[in-house]
Amino acid sequence: MSGPGLAERLRDGAVLGAEGYVFELERRGYIKAGPYVPEVVLDFPAAVTELHREFLRAGADVMVALTYYAHREKLRDLGREGDLEAMNRQAVRLARAAANEGAGGVLVAGNVSNTWAYDPDDRSTWDTVRAMYTEQLGWAADEGIDFVISETNDYLGEALIALEVIQSLGLPSMVTLAATQPGHTRDGYDYVEACRILAGRGATVVGLNCDRGPATMLPLVAQIREAVGCAVAAQPVPYRTTAGSPTMQSLTSEGANRVFPLALEPFGCTRFEMAGFARAARDLGVNYVGVCCGAGPHHVRAMAEALGREVPASRYSPAPDLHPMYRAAVNARDASFAAAWNA
Ligand SMILES: [Zn+2]
Repeated sequence: MSGPGLAERLRDGAVLGAEGYVFELERRGYIKAGPYVPEVVLDFPAAVTELHREFLRAGADVMVALTYYAHREKLRDLGREGDLEAMNRQAVRLARAAANEGAGGVLVAGNVSNTWAYDPDDRSTWDTVRAMYTEQLGWAADEGIDFVISETNDYLGEALIALEVIQSLGLPSMVTLAATQPGHTRDGYDYVEACRILAGRGATVVGLNCDRGPATMLPLVAQIREAVGCAVAAQPVPYRTTAGSPTMQSLTSEGANRVFPLALEPFGCTRFEMAGFARAARDLGVNYVGVCCGAGPHHVRAMAEALGREVPASRYSPAPDLHPMYRAAVNARDASFAAAWNA
């Protein structure tokens, strides 16, 4: 780390996060939907580097190591358990190398997530999860990270195990819940109360990520902001969730059994909607403003610019007035076609 750490960055103003690596690399043909294990880290590292670079140019303040689902049980399912350590170490190296291409002060985050191995009623699974987090984050810390993001947590109990492992390594922590259920974590805690508990245990940042789009995440984040004294994060999916379908998993479309996770495009937020989210989150006092599954660099750049920044990719930000059909003085020939466009 060459510049200020996470706590200092949060004090200086909103930190801009960018995630959604798994969804984007699946679309690009490098990750298999279903298992969603980031094999790309070892198989096509240049593809990971390119996406890091795109988010960096779009203004992301954090390069997140792509270790989502890179844990022992998932890799065992794919017959790649022997690649576990190499995959986790390589992911951090790729994130660090990308961060070093930035203007300075770009943070590198280690990453763990919901494991699907945790059962609140079976203590043996608690030990299994703790062991997986311990080995993953041990390798990440060894490679050199600035803080850890524990995310998409369905269970407060599992999130607390992650927090303890992060704290045992002496690293700052961002622990966020996936508000998948209408009101409570899967182990029965109101989301606001769960964040209060995480804050009370010393998490650096608490909040929400994934599952909910801006419209259904912001009201819940506002309550969390009121309830805790520490920094708050909000990283929604860029999809148009509604009161009736508050999560991307609950979105439906006529003629389709299920749109999650592979047919979500018709529900995608525009860059303008994500810019609006960034402003609204900042105005609520959210300290870590980001985006999750479904994000593209165009969202991140619009969010950065909404937060008042000029970023490397701003060099190519839209100039609609330079389009022959949209400029103030459309010439006579084009005006006739413009009339048909607008009909
Ligand atoms: Zn996500």
